[in-house]
Amino acid sequence: MRLDELLKQDKLTLSFEVFPPKSDTAFESVKYATEEIAKLRPSFMSVTYGAGGGTSKYTLEIAKNIKEQYGVPTLAHLTCVSSTKETVHERIQQMKEAGIENVMALRGDLTPELEKSDCGTWDYRHAVDLIHELKEEGFCIGGACYPEIHPESANQKEDILHLKEKVDAGCSFLTTQMFFDNNLLYNFLYKIREAGITVPIIPGIMPITNGNQVERSIKLSGSFMPQRFKRLVDKFGTSPAAMKQAGIAYATDQIIDLFANGITNVHVYSMNKPDVAEAIQRNLSDILG
Ligand code: FAD
Repeated sequence: MRLDELLKQDKLTLSFEVFPPKSDTAFESVKYATEEIAKLRPSFMSVTYGAGGGTSKYTLEIAKNIKEQYGVPTLAHLTCVSSTKETVHERIQQMKEAGIENVMALRGDLTPELEKSDCGTWDYRHAVDLIHELKEEGFCIGGACYPEIHPESANQKEDILHLKEKVDAGCSFLTTQMFFDNNLLYNFLYKIREAGITVPIIPGIMPITNGNQVERSIKLSGSFMPQRFKRLVDKFGTSPAAMKQAGIAYATDQIIDLFANGITNVHVYSMNKPDVAEAIQRNLSDILG
């Protein structure tokens, strides 16, 4: 199912994100985890793309499997930075052959090696370049957005101008970077609606279920940690079972607040953890209806 159609329905949606294995040997265990999440019948599942990695082929394989075996709509991610047109077009062709209808169009992160390289020779500079090409191929396209500003942006105004370019180029919806304070999302929504961005925004919620995950996640995303969240990590971060319970409760609380404030679609960064996805979905069972 195309997500632009799904998001038009007058219904709350809860979706989950999974990521492909980083090595061939991990494929079976990752496939198993993604299938366990698919059995929960979420509204849709997204499968990330390991930029530059040799296992990027698994994004497609996992997305196809979830869709065909479990009937769950899928969103396959694709990044373009430092890729050649030839590689990207090959992936697009493979996605079409696999019956993928929804693609999350991303630039990909600039690794320190990429930052040192000569970007003058790159075929793609920004996600918008990829969006133009995917649009021509008829895909339903999603893009990324950043309630706390993309780390490379000089200011939010500039970031939102570029976001508008992505929507004008063909994004039907936008999924946000993780955030731990819903007020940041509400402020962001106000600003992007003022800037004329009207497509559905899907807040991305990361359940922090492991004390060691905190530093890495915050470093990658640059997200602000509210005092309430910091206290929880300080108190329970060294006890795995307690941190998991507290992290699931915090994420559930964020999602309930979002739904209560008129948000209709929420995406959970479930990180290949079926137990976490299941617990959050169970906590929301009567709310989701
Ligand atoms: P862009 O939209 O290109 O934006 C990057 C920066 O460039 C921003 O500062 C923007 O303001 C600026 N910019 C945009 N267009 C222009 C322009 N025309 N001129 C000048 N400046 C411009 N990474 C992966 O490797 N694999 C994944 O599967 C993946 N999934 C993600 C899913 C979500 C929901 C999110 C939020 C991020 C994901 N990422 C993934 C990370 C993403 O690749 C990085 O955040 C990356 O740094 C930016 O990607 P983008 O598509 O937002 O880039």
